[in-house]
Amino acid sequence: MPVRVLIVDDQEPFRAVARTVVELTDGFEVVGESENGEDSVSSAHELSPDLVLMDVNLPGISGLEATRRILADHVNGKSVVVLVLSTYEAAEYGPQAEEVGAAGFIPKSEFSPERLVEAWSAASVGS
Ligand SMILES: [Mg+2]
Repeated sequence: MPVRVLIVDDQEPFRAVARTVVELTDGFEVVGESENGEDSVSSAHELSPDLVLMDVNLPGISGLEATRRILADHVNGKSVVVLVLSTYEAAEYGPQAEEVGAAGFIPKSEFSPERLVEAWSAASVGS
C-alpha cells in the first residue's frame, strides 16, 4: 500500500512542487492538500494520512502548532508522521519542529524524492 500524503502549504506554487515530488516518488501518493493550519488539522482527521508535509509559516496557526494538534488528535488512533518543511534552514526551525513531535525537518530547497524516502525511512525506524 502506498504511503498516503497530505500536503500543507499556503503557497500554491510550492504545493505544486511538493505534489510533483510525491508523485515522482515510488510508493507515495497525495491524498489531499491544505492551505492553512486549521484546515490541515481537520483534513488530517478526515483523511488519516500516513504522512503530513507541513509548512511552518502559514496564515492563522503556525505549522508547528498545527503539527502539535495533528499529533495530539492521533494519540489513540492510527499513527501519523509529520515532516516539517520550510524555506528557512534547519537551524531555524529544526529544534522547534522536534519539540512539537515532528519526525524531521527538510528545507524546501532540498525537498526531493530522495529526501522524502530518507526522512520517511528514518521516521518509520524510529516509531
Ligand atoms: Mg508558507
